[in-house]
Amino acid sequence: MKLPFNIDLKDKVVVITGAGGVLCGMFAKALAKTGAKVALLDLNLDAATNNANEIIENGGIAKGYQCNVLDKDNIEKVRQEINEDLGTCDILVNGAGGNSPKATTENEFFEEKDLNNMKTFFDLDAEGVRFVFDLNYMGTLLPTQVFAIDMLNKEGASIINISSMNAFTPLTKIPAYSGAKAAISNFTQWLAVHFAKAGIRCNAIAPGFFISKQNEKLLFSEDGTPTKRCEKILRNTPVNRFGKEEELIGTLLYLVCEEASSFVNGVVIPVDGGFSAYSGV
Ligand code: NAD
Repeated sequence: MKLPFNIDLKDKVVVITGAGGVLCGMFAKALAKTGAKVALLDLNLDAATNNANEIIENGGIAKGYQCNVLDKDNIEKVRQEINEDLGTCDILVNGAGGNSPKATTENEFFEEKDLNNMKTFFDLDAEGVRFVFDLNYMGTLLPTQVFAIDMLNKEGASIINISSMNAFTPLTKIPAYSGAKAAISNFTQWLAVHFAKAGIRCNAIAPGFFISKQNEKLLFSEDGTPTKRCEKILRNTPVNRFGKEEELIGTLLYLVCEEASSFVNGVVIPVDGGFSAYSGV
């Protein structure tokens, strides 16, 4: 992986949740290239360890940890392990997140004829909705409670949350995910203010559309042809393509680099090919 520019995070300890996944696995690899020691946390230990091993094979320092971001005792235990293995946390990337089919309507617009024929708003499963709010919001709040303790008054301490396009304007079908990511943008501002005198900055990245495990079924049919939703996304993304994961790295490096962004606090930066700027007309 080639970084768009170099920053020096030598000896900094970076903790990344959801680091077995597509975007945060890549974030881990990018931050390891800056000299940081990277703790990769994920529910899926194999995925986290595979990404950590790739970093080590390329000369970086990393370790994978099994961690459920919804279980505070578990996060606390992992924090103790990281402190012993790598040192105390300097930079936290809250990446674990996602949607659930149980919190997704089948159609974009409600029509009365759909009642009892398909999953409408009225059929959304309360547990599914709660799961999505928990995973995205509590899954950011709890790791922040646990790791920010280590970051107090540390030079260059920084938290990066992962918001989304649907935080600005909700996307159809996914009310829980949209609401939860709006809450993440709001929480980012809240944390930035709350920790301002404790020396911890907090900002967020709002990725546009990138293909991942969690959204590929919404974007492509089983035979690989683009779904109507996929076509709609591309029509509403002025550059008319999906993002390449590497296109998020520059914003990540900028936000964690004290020299570059020490006065930037509480912002949510869209990296979206113009999607959030486009009204569609
Ligand atoms: P992904 O599904 O590839 O990765 C998510 C990772 O989180 C998975 O490895 C999963 O095992 C892990 N995870 C799930 N529940 C967990 C839990 N309870 N504890 C710990 N780990 C858990 O998804 P991705 O596309 O890489 O998404 C990363 C982040 O970016 C998410 O917050 C997502 O909502 C956000 N996002 C993605 C896109 C996109 O287009 N891919 C767009 C906007 C925002």
